[in-house]
Amino acid sequence: MKEQLQTLEKEAIAKLHDANDLKDIQAVQVTYLGRKGSITEVLRGMGKLSKEERPVIGELANKVRTTIQEAIDGKKEKLEQEELEKQLQKETIDVTLPGRPVHVAGSHILTSIIEEIEDLFIGLGYEVKEGPEVETDYYNFEALNLPKGHPARDMQDSFYITNELLLRTHTSPMQARTMRALEGTEPIRMICPGKVYRRDNDDATHSHQFTQIEGLYVDKDVRMSDLKGTLHLFVQKMFGEDRELRFRPSFFPFTEPSVEMDISCKVCSGAGCSVCKQSGWIEILGAGMVHPKVLEMAGYDSKVYTGFAFGMGPDRIAMLKYGIDDIRRFYTDDIRFLKQFHEA
Ligand SMILES: [Zn+2]
Repeated sequence: MKEQLQTLEKEAIAKLHDANDLKDIQAVQVTYLGRKGSITEVLRGMGKLSKEERPVIGELANKVRTTIQEAIDGKKEKLEQEELEKQLQKETIDVTLPGRPVHVAGSHILTSIIEEIEDLFIGLGYEVKEGPEVETDYYNFEALNLPKGHPARDMQDSFYITNELLLRTHTSPMQARTMRALEGTEPIRMICPGKVYRRDNDDATHSHQFTQIEGLYVDKDVRMSDLKGTLHLFVQKMFGEDRELRFRPSFFPFTEPSVEMDISCKVCSGAGCSVCKQSGWIEILGAGMVHPKVLEMAGYDSKVYTGFAFGMGPDRIAMLKYGIDDIRRFYTDDIRFLKQFHEA
């Protein structure tokens, strides 16, 4: 039995020596040390041994087991090390390969347009103010001379959060907020750009979310000619020196008198074409002199202070400036559409 064990040990060591991979080693483990392995098999015969022989053989068996196990562990480690080195050799990094391209993001076209308009008005001494998109009924309507039940509210149906809270339908609430904050004590020159919301069905010219820029100028002795001069400068800077503008009478509850402003069509230079619906003019914004009631509600003495206000849509301005045919393009994240303005 002693010899049997010694033979098994020799055999196992020889097999390990020849082992080429982890599978071979695993086989040795199972064959010699496993529960049904050769050593266990030999030890089954222990019962036939004398009392004196048993501990001797037991000790030897343990020694043989340990020797084989250590040999297995050693070989395993060696093979794994070799495997790792082979892999490292194979996966050497070629530092001359070009790296993955990093995509550089840019401003959304509407952001660019808004910033361009902001720059222009900052140059004229205006402040840029931003207001909350969730607005109270009071500031969105009532403070702008649109009391509850006023028919002009129908044009600006919104998304209501409660009866008194809604997503603002225009940036005009910032007019009232700014005037309120100053309590009728100081002149105001401010613009307010931002997102606004209406319950419109989306189509090529309507979006339930769009952008607006509100402008307000309040001081002693502000006249309609100041409004016209300011907007003329705006049109020339945004659309070109040769563009003409005209005012048409209109109605807004918060201005009196109110106007719609058109600019001459760039495509046909006023002769009439499909872009301007044969009129030679393109509507660009609404404006007017601040209604005395709006001034009074905000604490300004309308006998002392006058002012003008205007509201324009950067979406529409971008569409006109770049010939964009569908307002939904601004909000649908088509990277091909958005990218072209970065390259320009
Ligand atoms: Zn035209």
